[in-house]
Amino acid sequence: MTSENAELISQLRDTVKKVCDDFPGEYWREKDRNRHYPTEFVNALTELGLLASLIPEEYGGSGLPLSVGAEILTAIHEFGGHAGACHAQMYTMGTVLRHGNVEQKEQYLPGIASGDLRLQAFGVTEPTAGTDTTSISTMAVRSGDGYIVNGQKVWTSRAEHSDLMLLLARTTPKDQVKKRSDGLSVFLVDMRDAQGNGMTIKPIRTMINHSTTEIFFDNFPIPANSLIGEEGKGFKYILSGMNAERILIAAECIGDARWFIKKATDYACERQVFGRPIGMNQGIQFPIARAYANTIAAELVLREAAELYDRGEDCGTEANMAKMLASEASWEAADTCMQTFGGFGVAEEYDVERKFRECRLYRIAPISTNLILSFIAEHELGMPRSY
Ligand SMILES: Cc1cc2nc3c(=O)[nH]c(=O)nc-3n(C[C@H](O)[C@H](O)[C@H](O)COP(=O)(O)OP(=O)(O)OC[C@H]3O[C@@H](n4cnc5c(N)ncnc54)[C@H](O)[C@@H]3O)c2cc1C
Repeated sequence: MTSENAELISQLRDTVKKVCDDFPGEYWREKDRNRHYPTEFVNALTELGLLASLIPEEYGGSGLPLSVGAEILTAIHEFGGHAGACHAQMYTMGTVLRHGNVEQKEQYLPGIASGDLRLQAFGVTEPTAGTDTTSISTMAVRSGDGYIVNGQKVWTSRAEHSDLMLLLARTTPKDQVKKRSDGLSVFLVDMRDAQGNGMTIKPIRTMINHSTTEIFFDNFPIPANSLIGEEGKGFKYILSGMNAERILIAAECIGDARWFIKKATDYACERQVFGRPIGMNQGIQFPIARAYANTIAAELVLREAAELYDRGEDCGTEANMAKMLASEASWEAADTCMQTFGGFGVAEEYDVERKFRECRLYRIAPISTNLILSFIAEHELGMPRSY
């Protein structure tokens, strides 16, 4: 990390801390209880330009490297906030930036940078295909000067709080392509007038407040200029954004782990049982110390992944490992914190149980641990593909 970046990161962490201090535990508890979107928190981050940090300056963003964007997300989670409501606003635009044409970039990126336009819905997963993305069956069929979309997505998060959605659909059926990853296309879909005109969004209530939905397309028309890049090459475009997503999610996990470790350490030093702080017992100390060591280790892999990404080098293995190790470190820290708190760990007012629920997701999404292990086994160790 350059000293210039170190100074910038320190300033950004201070800025994020001030924002998070304005949104204490009660705010998040109330949103969680009612499954409400944290609009005020998202607006505060938007006004400070934090969600536009990765957009190049020529389009109104701050043009920061991914490694610095990752620090913003770590800080949000470390200081008690949650970026799940808006992290995709930071990185979904990457597909438009890298693969969109000049008109698309000029039309959308400045609005995304200012926050006037929300591009934070990403429609890839489908109920029958699951992780096997090339088996998706949502079809976009050429018709006149556009496409007609039919099919269904699931787990499309923030769709009700987004103006635009990046949609992956088949433009050629799987049985008509040479390679299963061919024939998939990416569209930038305007959702503002779509509800009731071929698109239906249904919220899914989950164990966390994540504004996730399922989306149904029934003869939904989209203009031809919503196609990003070349028709049939969408899988490659989606993959190219996934390393950035994994690195940024890993950064959030590191922030969560730090939050749990601080919370557990403070409580262990304060809580008196048998006439002394529980933190005097090695049975309490050691799990916290171990979680700390594993968090630092995961963070080193995360930094390596982000630096490779920023240098434009291949970072697939490192991005995957960072996401896996960081999500495991945050889960270990969460479990340790819960155990340190004893009964109070499950009481809402300490926020431990909420954060515990929230951090568990990242061992499953955006990619589950088994699939990461398969990637490492195949691509790094040269073992046979297992699926
Ligand atoms: C809250 C939430 C938000 C999400 N947001 C989005 C979003 O905004 N956009 C979007 O497109 N998707 C989103 N997702 C989907 C997410 O990316 C998937 O849930 C995730 O990739 C896992 O896919 P799946 O749930 O279909 O599991 P499945 O593919 O059904 O797999 C189930 C289990 O089997 C394991 N498994 C499957 N195949 C293999 C194999 N070959 N070897 C070993 N193990 C295997 C998996 O690791 C997993 O543990 C979200 C999911 C959740 C829960």
